[in-house]
Amino acid sequence: MKPNHVNELIDLLNESKKIVIVTHWSPDGDAIGSSLGLYNYLIQKQHNVTVITPNDYPSFLFWMQGNDKVIDFSASPDSAKEAVSKAELIFCLDFNSLSRIDALGEEVSKSKAKKCIIDHHLQPEGFADYMLHTIKTSSTCELIYDFIVLLGDKSLINKDVANCLYTGIMTDTGSFRFPSTSPQTHRVIADLIEAGAQNSEIHNRIYDNNTEDKLRLLGYSFLEKLVVLKEHGTAFFSLNAEELTRFNYKKGDTEGLVNYALSIEGIYFAVFIVERDGKVKLSFRSIGKFDVNTFARTYFSGGGHANAAGGVSELSLNDTIIKLVSLLPNKN
Ligand code: 5GP
Ligand code: MN
Repeated sequence: MKPNHVNELIDLLNESKKIVIVTHWSPDGDAIGSSLGLYNYLIQKQHNVTVITPNDYPSFLFWMQGNDKVIDFSASPDSAKEAVSKAELIFCLDFNSLSRIDALGEEVSKSKAKKCIIDHHLQPEGFADYMLHTIKTSSTCELIYDFIVLLGDKSLINKDVANCLYTGIMTDTGSFRFPSTSPQTHRVIADLIEAGAQNSEIHNRIYDNNTEDKLRLLGYSFLEKLVVLKEHGTAFFSLNAEELTRFNYKKGDTEGLVNYALSIEGIYFAVFIVERDGKVKLSFRSIGKFDVNTFARTYFSGGGHANAAGGVSELSLNDTIIKLVSLLPNKN
């Protein structure tokens, strides 16, 4: 962030403001962790803060402080629109393209509020007045830590802020194992634990609250739905709407499934394709040089990071699979 922008933001935040925090469609641990981490920091400075998500998110994220005040735009559009229209400052967290917040994007672009992007995805759009953006940082939560420190408020990282930020760093780094995990990431984590983050409890809350339905859906996926194409270094899972209903699917039940496909020896490109909410969504993961951000942008109107990205398909689930297979790396 430019030094004069830091000073402008310090000035802006010196007086109580109406602030809205928005994050991306289908929020994950980093999206909710960064939003509520920033929320729990800003309320200590006497701001009036509203967190808005475009749609709902998995229940394993509901325990975070402030979660009960989050507005889901798809469920309560009127209160969300009112908050956005009254906002003086809008933080856009963990995304950098208005298409990532769906219909909420129109409200945000209409608003006269100053806008600040804090994000670590590739190729940001230029719709904000302020931007804290680097693709090298593990997570938006790590950037929120940097942001609070930049504003000279490290002492306001209390237990609530620390729990939220710890969560997003943990989930976006695959529990501190992806290459984005730097020495600085571990230093930040050490500071967060010192500030009160309940690290072991957070791991339990996020990873150890499976339902029987979820485990049976995973079992079915492994046994019946995994396709391995060794000659292309590729493996994928797909699930249709009927299969999700059969296993009583709840939001979050398939999170992380794609990583199992990537864990197979010799596989460097993994995909999870799911028919959900009337859309066909794709999650891409890769190891090494195969750039799934470019792949997602080129063929599936998506984006993300070089080794983790997502997109959508206008085709049916089956036709999407046919399209994907025709595009595989090393295809002759
Ligand atoms: P996931 O597969 O976990 O949903 O997403 C992987 C990464 O890609 C995340 O960083 C996420 O923000 C990004 N991503 C997922 N879906 C989309 C999409 O449709 N468009 C863009 N631009 N990014 C996406
Ligand atoms: Mn993130």
